[in-house]
Amino acid sequence: MSAYGNRRSKVLEKLPSDLTALLVTEPTNVRYLTGFTGSNGQVLLDAESCFFTDGRYQEQSESQVPDLDRQIYSGSTKLSELLSKRLADRGVTRLGAEASHMTVAGMDRMRKGLDGIELVPTTDLVEGVRERKDSTEIGSIRRAQEVAEQALVGALREWKGGTELDLALDLEWRIRKEVEGVSFDIIVAGGAHSALPHAEPRREPIDIEGVLLIDMGAKAEGYCSDMTRTFLGPRAPEELRKAHKAVLAALEAGCAAVRPGVACADVDRAAREVLEKEGLGDLFIHSTGHGVGLEIHEGPTLTTSAEGSLEPGMVVTVEPGVYIPGVGGIRIEDFLVVTDDGADNLTTLDRGPDLP
Ligand code: ZN
Ligand code: ZN
Repeated sequence: MSAYGNRRSKVLEKLPSDLTALLVTEPTNVRYLTGFTGSNGQVLLDAESCFFTDGRYQEQSESQVPDLDRQIYSGSTKLSELLSKRLADRGVTRLGAEASHMTVAGMDRMRKGLDGIELVPTTDLVEGVRERKDSTEIGSIRRAQEVAEQALVGALREWKGGTELDLALDLEWRIRKEVEGVSFDIIVAGGAHSALPHAEPRREPIDIEGVLLIDMGAKAEGYCSDMTRTFLGPRAPEELRKAHKAVLAALEAGCAAVRPGVACADVDRAAREVLEKEGLGDLFIHSTGHGVGLEIHEGPTLTTSAEGSLEPGMVVTVEPGVYIPGVGGIRIEDFLVVTDDGADNLTTLDRGPDLP
């Protein structure tokens, strides 16, 4: 069975017992289950799954989704008509739909079009399976990270001065020359601006001798990477030098806690406790980490109140931070893949505070 077939079986195994079919409409989930990268495609998952798209994507879907039945709709034949017929032929009366991705209006429209078939809202069925990555997915994530690290080292070593935006664009350029693109808008924040966890790069010159926070990732074959480094030059405030040591210790504690069977909340606690002991707990104003895959933020989440525990194949960030308003911020972020007996850190770049 193809990797995609394997993923579809895993989702089908998770269907609630009163459902035999699920309509997948969220584009990232469709890509995950079929390999289709176009903007409009749906999959009906059941014993004989089927792919639906419109005429624009007939050719693309024939090459990207060769292993599924295909139905093409157009202005006159709607998706709901094709679905109704297929479901009726197979005696299906209840159809699962992805509630997190369908609008109320879309759900209403689909209900009207699916005469005699009950539409049942479901959540996280595909997302749940997506949390555990296979070796091909890990390979793409490693590639994305490799490109991101090379971009960061290259851009900083060849830095000749400029603004935060100049550096962000240089990083993006280097990434896009190698792979699909960036996994999110790159954060480059110098000086006190780094105290904003989601700072946007400004048209302000960077003082390379002060504090410089960079949060960035690349995307390869659809898969994201995510890493933050904070560099401290000779002019960086002493307060931040102490904070860097504390955040580094929190990162190490968090990373050491990542292994199969550990509660997601315990990874958060491991990192948070280090900062609390240093009296910096109140300045750590976000969660410790998140899953990374086809999306930059996906399950599982590593928060104080997170439920669930880590399983082999999960890819998670550990990204403690300390933000001192008016002074600056420190965040250091690695990301790891959970293995059968521990974890592999996917980040190989030195953690600073010196420039690479
Ligand atoms: Zn990040
Ligand atoms: Zn992150």
